[in-house]
Amino acid sequence: MAVTSVKPVLQGRFARELGELAIAWRAQTPPDPELVVLNEPLALELGLDPAWLRGPGGVGLLTGTVLPADATPVAQAYAGHQFGGYSPRLGDGRALLLGELLDADGRTRDLHLKGSGPTPFSRGGDGLAALGPMLREYVISEAMHALGIPTTRSLAVVATGRPVQRDDLLPGAVLARVASSHLRVGSFQYAASSGDLDLLRRLVDHAIERHHPAAADADRPALALLDAVVGAQASLVAQWMLVGFIHGVMNTDNMTISGETIDYGPCAFLDAYDPATVFSSIDHAGRYAFANQPMAAEWNLARFAETLLPLVDDEPTIAIELATASLGAFRPQHAAARSAGMRAKLGLPAGPDDATVDGMVDDLLELMRLGRVDHTTAFRALGTAARGDVEPFRGLFLDLAGVDRWLAPWRAAAPDPDLMARTNPVYIPRNHLVEEALAAATEGHLGPLDVLLEAISSPYDERPGLERHTLPAPDDGGTYQTFCGT
Ligand code: AMP
Ligand code: MG
Repeated sequence: MAVTSVKPVLQGRFARELGELAIAWRAQTPPDPELVVLNEPLALELGLDPAWLRGPGGVGLLTGTVLPADATPVAQAYAGHQFGGYSPRLGDGRALLLGELLDADGRTRDLHLKGSGPTPFSRGGDGLAALGPMLREYVISEAMHALGIPTTRSLAVVATGRPVQRDDLLPGAVLARVASSHLRVGSFQYAASSGDLDLLRRLVDHAIERHHPAAADADRPALALLDAVVGAQASLVAQWMLVGFIHGVMNTDNMTISGETIDYGPCAFLDAYDPATVFSSIDHAGRYAFANQPMAAEWNLARFAETLLPLVDDEPTIAIELATASLGAFRPQHAAARSAGMRAKLGLPAGPDDATVDGMVDDLLELMRLGRVDHTTAFRALGTAARGDVEPFRGLFLDLAGVDRWLAPWRAAAPDPDLMARTNPVYIPRNHLVEEALAAATEGHLGPLDVLLEAISSPYDERPGLERHTLPAPDDGGTYQTFCGT
């Protein structure tokens, strides 16, 4: 891929078109910036020269302190339901949209910073981020991308040299994030609650143009936008469920209009399969437990639909009827995406009918739950079983009779091992290895992080030297906890 430019041209589209949702702001200058990790393939995709990004000008861009003269960095306003409770004004409390750039394929991508200092939306927070949580977002978002799951991307993490006070004093950092946009359900909630219909209309047009252009030609563009976002989220959350991803904080401000996964805070992948798994230290009620994610997404989409009602139809009862029908597509679309994905994971693209395969999936997951079997390891070992060697799979379970009863009809359906190897990752960011890599990086040792990034960047392709990364966690008794890192 050709490096088309060195310095990016940063457009200020969001700032210009949606000024009511943007406050012009500048990043805080880090006392001693040091590039910790740079995503060179992504830099090239963006038409940026990695060598330049590593130099002073590049680090200036990646911390928001050296920008093209006409750049218009802004903190974005949004509202949001957090764990069900509405906050009318959240916004970028520690983030900045530097602007949009055109990537090498001509697509518009937001360049955005997290941890860049306080803004008018900080609400008493310090506006900062610690190195560990920013590296965590880098690792997990890049793992999701490599797994083929829509996500915001991570371009770089720069240590700031400014300590951040959490429970301990931690090294501070800025994450440079790339997204097809940062429009969220919460952006629409903010615009709708302002009562400014013109703003809401411009926001809808902006979202349609950037993410769901076919909706522009529909009779009711706002309803077509809703249909498109419902479809994108139904598919996205199905993909999370298939790899065992738990987002952890599915508030409406953390759900995109693009259908990309965003805001990697307390997220983590399942170790032992248990649908009730909650990792986040703040999710006491288990609202965002693994198995609740489709319902949480549907709930958020209902909040999104509410914001669009005045643009769906002038007559409220008609608007509600149409929006309700649109939301009704979520469950069947999600179920279809999950079933198709599970068929591939079991290596059964054709053959048994959907009900039979769904039943097989339920039975397998129940065996895994009862045996506290590692989700990723089980599906990968099942691929080995499809090649004829069932022992690695059987050996994961205590209930061998139950496993053999499950295996017989599955093997009789002639599963495709090549499809399974392409569908069931061998490397995911395993919690114990993520923690190990982040702890070492916080102490200044980047070796474990480099190996982890190498493993997760090619998740289906088993390679020598990465054996530790294929193994389940030593049993922690189910006590793993994640924190928002705020
Ligand atoms: P989150 O749930 O992490 O996406 O964050 C929810 C809200 O809290 C957003 O408005 C963030 O900008 C804000 N926030 C999180 N951490 C901080 C911080 N350290 N300083 C200021 N605002 C923050
Ligand atoms: Mg957020």
